[in-house]
Amino acid sequence: MDLREHIRDIPDFPKPGIIFKDITPMLAHAEALKQIIDDFAAEYRGKVDIVLGIESRGFIVGAAVAYALGVGLALVRKPGKLPSDTYVAEYDLEYGSDKLEIHSDAFGHPCRVLVLDDLLATGGTAGAAVQLVRKLGGEVVACAFIIELGFLGGRAKLVDCPVHSLVNYE
Ligand code: AMP
Repeated sequence: MDLREHIRDIPDFPKPGIIFKDITPMLAHAEALKQIIDDFAAEYRGKVDIVLGIESRGFIVGAAVAYALGVGLALVRKPGKLPSDTYVAEYDLEYGSDKLEIHSDAFGHPCRVLVLDDLLATGGTAGAAVQLVRKLGGEVVACAFIIELGFLGGRAKLVDCPVHSLVNYE
């Protein structure tokens, strides 16, 4: 199946000049959704102890992949959303800048972590998630994405961990 057929381009969202890759058609398509989860699960079965989902679309895919792998799910969230003690990392976005947080006890160690999000753009978000995992003493097995905007060069911010994407717009 060509997953690209289930990704919709929304021009000028959320700001003029951005072409937003909308994955809601993909999530709504039973076979496309199954293929994504099965692909990630096949790649990481037995290799990770926890999946780390990045807010918010990373939660959707992350929860399904964690379930398929038989491991737990940890969350990286926007500031002020996590109720317990957190570590914070700052990062740059394709559109703006922001911070991310993780619970300081999100996972024990040693812990092999799969960082998961819907899309890799400039790499700032995933780079911050990697920093947070390492702050907690975890090992980043890979950063995995449904979509990579290869022309933005986000991989360059993730040089020290494997990067895996299912669809790459080069
Ligand atoms: P970045 O930090 O630049 O790699 O941005 C990645 C994060 O921003 C991911 O959580 C994406 O969901 C979101 N994002 C950035 N650019 C886009 C885009 N063109 N379409 C959809 N989501 C995007």
